[in-house]
Amino acid sequence: MKMLKSNKGSKTPLTVPSDHMIQVRDLCKSYQMGSERLQVLKHIDLTVDQGDFVAILGPSGSGKSTLMNILGCMDTCESGEYYLHGHPVHLCGDREMTDIRNREIGFIFQKYQLIPKYTVLQNIAMPLLVRGMEHHQAERACLETIRMLGLGERMSHKPSELSGGQQQRVAIARALVGHPAILLADEPTGALDRNTGLEVLELFRQLNEMGNTIIMITHDLSVASHARRVVRIVDGELFLGEEEPRQQPA
Ligand code: ADP
Ligand code: MG
Repeated sequence: MKMLKSNKGSKTPLTVPSDHMIQVRDLCKSYQMGSERLQVLKHIDLTVDQGDFVAILGPSGSGKSTLMNILGCMDTCESGEYYLHGHPVHLCGDREMTDIRNREIGFIFQKYQLIPKYTVLQNIAMPLLVRGMEHHQAERACLETIRMLGLGERMSHKPSELSGGQQQRVAIARALVGHPAILLADEPTGALDRNTGLEVLELFRQLNEMGNTIIMITHDLSVASHARRVVRIVDGELFLGEEEPRQQPA
């Protein structure tokens, strides 16, 4: 008989508030700046379902990366609730956050953030090694993703030997390889020329068609419009599709 993992000893109760993959309720975050408190995220409500492809659109300084860091379990909120698969992330301690991050989240950044001294294959294998998989097993597990992203001939190259578009493909492969619940992309086309950016967005569309859930952060409406839906963030407030923000993002 399969045993359910005990939750004994964890401070996080296994409550399931809804069927949404992500449910964020009344989430706030602020920073103390000298004597002033800077409210960066203001009462954010957001739901994301399995198979969604949502763009979070907002100007520089609006709180996009702060929100992404919280969704990606790299940072904690100050108040409010964040459920991932019904699990209350806002109640998790550091270790559990790290576990969730390693298992459930695939990150894609503007500047790729590859490790320069590692090969393409070693970079892509990273999330599996972090989870404790052995080297040769991890590298074998990467091959399908590497083939799917057309990187087969570049496997033993170093990132510096690749174009920007190829480096972002490596970063996308690294994000995908552990089959995370969510791909979180922060300005993924920001460092690329227009055509290469469009190729990356087309790749996202295909990955979404294959069932991957994607949250993409951008300041650029033409980039955001490639997603299935767009939500806007202005000065720390989130506006869903039908609502009008008080000011247009730059
Ligand atoms: P975006 O990604 O939309 O450009 P950020 O989430 O990076 O915006 O930042 C939102 C606001 O929060 C900015 O005003 C920024 O200066 C501030 N901020 C971000 N991180 C910190 C921090 N660690 N300490 C203080 N202020 C911060
Ligand atoms: Mg940012």
